[in-house]
Amino acid sequence: MALLDVTDLEIAVAAGGKLLPVVRGVSFAIEENETLGIVGESGCGKSLTSLAIMGLLEGSQVRITGGSIQFDGRELTTLSAEDRRAIMGDQMAMIFQEPMTSLNPVYRIGDQIVETLRQHRDMTKGQARDRAIELLDLVRIPEPTRRVDSFPHQMSGGQRQRVMIAMALACDPKLLIADEPTTALDVTVQKEVLDLMADLQTRTGTAIVLISHDLGVIAETCDKVAVMYRGKIAEAATTRELFSNMSHPYTRGLLNSIPVVDHDVEWLEAIPGRVPTIDEVLPGCAFHPRCPLAEDRCNAEDPAPRDVANGHAVRCHFAGGAA
Ligand code: SF4
Repeated sequence: MALLDVTDLEIAVAAGGKLLPVVRGVSFAIEENETLGIVGESGCGKSLTSLAIMGLLEGSQVRITGGSIQFDGRELTTLSAEDRRAIMGDQMAMIFQEPMTSLNPVYRIGDQIVETLRQHRDMTKGQARDRAIELLDLVRIPEPTRRVDSFPHQMSGGQRQRVMIAMALACDPKLLIADEPTTALDVTVQKEVLDLMADLQTRTGTAIVLISHDLGVIAETCDKVAVMYRGKIAEAATTRELFSNMSHPYTRGLLNSIPVVDHDVEWLEAIPGRVPTIDEVLPGCAFHPRCPLAEDRCNAEDPAPRDVANGHAVRCHFAGGAA
């Protein structure tokens, strides 16, 4: 069994007395030491999927309405709040997009790491502080013995994201979910943070789910990819297979909209239109209003995933040849 096994996950938002589906029948699995990239535009359901795995939807208008999330042999959707708290931050951890809103601005960063450690490990304050310094060193914060006493606002954006990574890795989690961890960073710092995560994975064997809207980042860092569109997986494959045999028009649209630095283009291609809102009812393929290949059938019939190669599934009527 995989370390994380998500099967037919359904998530809905409660609004106006109705439940509006936002994630529909999503399935994927990830093994130890593996990195899965989940890619798609804003509003495709990738962050809600990760919040559901972490149990962070509780108390919101958003809820899991079906499917299963198995982690290390345990079903998470039915776990008590107490059992879930014991797992979170210990066996599973998350890095969020904007560290300034995730770190507490009135506590020193060292104290925030110490708190995480003492919540899950039997450590004295002194032992936890020593470990916090080690972790800051591990994520390449310069002068960790001094910076452990810094407040978040005294660090740069890249350093704050490293602190978030140090906190997430404090208890050597088996699974790390990184939700757009580099979006708020400039390109050189972005690369350093991604390299750091890859390096840490090599040392610890942690499985990583990397959520991004950027196929370039996914191509560089992930073993396999799931492309999400309007709450469903549109295309899934190993990274090598996906980039050598990109089959869904949406995935190709995402790739074509990445700027290429080695030749001039007059206009950058963009996918026309926008992701439909959750209350829009769309019969047929959800991508059909934006798809350059749409035919009459697409407006009426929702495509099922088709296998175009071993383990490469594409949700399009015409993937791999005529339907
Ligand atoms: Fe485009 Fe039709 Fe394929 Fe949907 S099913 S992606 S609309 S060609």
